[in-house]
Amino acid sequence: MSRTQKWAEQRKGPVAVENEDVAWERRSAAPVTAPVRSRKLAKVPFLELAEGRLQGVVSSGSDVGRVYVSSITAGEHGLSCNTNNNRPCGGLSDTYACNHLKALLGEAELQYGPERVARYLKIDVAEGAALLSGLHPTVAPNRAAQVFSSFLRHLAYLELPTSTDPLPELQWFPATEAVI
Ligand SMILES: [Zn+2]
Repeated sequence: MSRTQKWAEQRKGPVAVENEDVAWERRSAAPVTAPVRSRKLAKVPFLELAEGRLQGVVSSGSDVGRVYVSSITAGEHGLSCNTNNNRPCGGLSDTYACNHLKALLGEAELQYGPERVARYLKIDVAEGAALLSGLHPTVAPNRAAQVFSSFLRHLAYLELPTSTDPLPELQWFPATEAVI
């Protein structure tokens, strides 16, 4: 049994591994946390629970050259969605989340599990109910610049040459210490 399988067994859940031949803990760029369930990166290439928001980058369903930068603030559920050209999303209204925010929330549930997302965003729903139904949205200021710069910071790790040497900046990642 590989280390990854052992780890998955301890965690009682599947681990998304991009390349099964190389266990993630041996790669230099380990993920922050293994997803609760595997998810497709094409739709939502990047998401994170950070800076008091669920934020991420969502692919446009129709135009391959366009992405949306979407975020939901914790507590007030302030919604924000803009294109990569910083135009406001046409599908977002004051009280309804657009399809990009719905996709972001859905993928976050896969990545982190619904309980963790609900706890972070302070969404109060009955167990098993859709998190979307627990949002009481308001309009939030445009956060596209911050979200995008966070995305680019993460992408920068993809530019590093492949190596199994530890990266000092990644030492705080809990995943690197999960398996001895
Ligand atoms: Zn949108």
